[in-house]
Amino acid sequence: MSAPLLLPLAPGSTIGILGGGQLGRMLALAAARLGFDVVVLERKADSPAGRTAVQLIVAEYDDEAALAELAGLTGLVTYEFENVPAASVAWLAARGVEVAPGSRALAVAQDRFEEKTFLNAHGAPTVAFAVANTPEEAMDAVARIGAPALMKTRREGYDGKGQRWVEHAHAAAGAFEALGGVPVIVEAAASFVRELSLIAARGRDGSTAIYPLGENHHEQGILRRTLAPAQAAPAVAGQAERIATRVLAGLDYVGVIGIELFEMADGRLLVNEIAPRVHNSGHWTQDGCEVDQFEQHIRAVAGWPLGPTRAIAQVEMLNLLGDEADAWAKYAAEPETRLHLYGKRGSRPGRKMGHINRVKPL
Ligand code: AMP
Repeated sequence: MSAPLLLPLAPGSTIGILGGGQLGRMLALAAARLGFDVVVLERKADSPAGRTAVQLIVAEYDDEAALAELAGLTGLVTYEFENVPAASVAWLAARGVEVAPGSRALAVAQDRFEEKTFLNAHGAPTVAFAVANTPEEAMDAVARIGAPALMKTRREGYDGKGQRWVEHAHAAAGAFEALGGVPVIVEAAASFVRELSLIAARGRDGSTAIYPLGENHHEQGILRRTLAPAQAAPAVAGQAERIATRVLAGLDYVGVIGIELFEMADGRLLVNEIAPRVHNSGHWTQDGCEVDQFEQHIRAVAGWPLGPTRAIAQVEMLNLLGDEADAWAKYAAEPETRLHLYGKRGSRPGRKMGHINRVKPL
């Protein structure tokens, strides 16, 4: 058993992070700035977060010996991706380790059907949707929702992976098989005018902090650009805030959450998905806000007061994909550009190698 966790967590304490990617790296850097040590549990020996941690445990996320080692080093664990096995979180919790955000947030975010059901039940509107477990049910679902519809695997999709457009109900069975014959959700096509996202946080005392909206542009399913703070009508910003407040309270959430939104022509917002972690569309906060999403997450899970979220600059965040990061010297020479590189050793097309924030002080 881990020793009981004393909150607020004192500087000098250790925080565990499940996952060794760039989000874990930036969380570890923020934690270090507040005086914490970070131990990372990650599958690969060489990882962006592993290189910034004081200790690295290389193992599968469900390896009990590795989880026990982690529990021996820290009483507080967070994660940088939502596909952490629920059983690992339960295993840690049973040994007195505090895992934040909690298992409810993970369960909701890991399954697109649970997610949309939760959102609608908490006053956060989404597109119409239906589930299907067989090719026949898939045809039926598309017939009910109406074509074109977007079929997505219920679990484990990201960056546009695990989804297919279905143009006619009779193409549904083929799409179902092409997605691997696993349970799917069929979504109505959202004819949005733009994609927005909201980064928000909830502390252990139930206080919330909400960042200004970001406007997101994707290419081939991957986030390319975020413009923030986004120009938005007060009614749109108000809806986004209400959605965030309801979602955070409904999940009894602790930490930072990313909420992806569709803005419809009539000004309504629909939630596309929620990510129970820091989010790529929140990277602009590093150079555009008083306290960024990474420090905010560490503050929240450590039981510290949340920091201010006010924007201090207008930011264009650009992801550096594949060999685009090779132009680091050019970006480093631009006075308005803040360069963030992830230390990844191998580049391949589409791989997120870093990002830049181009800032214009407000
Ligand atoms: P997701 O993996 O759910 O975040 O989806 C990736 C991208 O696909 C989103 O950012 C949207 O551009 C698009 N998308 C997702 N769901 C829908 C939908 N129901 N209607 C239209 N476009 C969608």
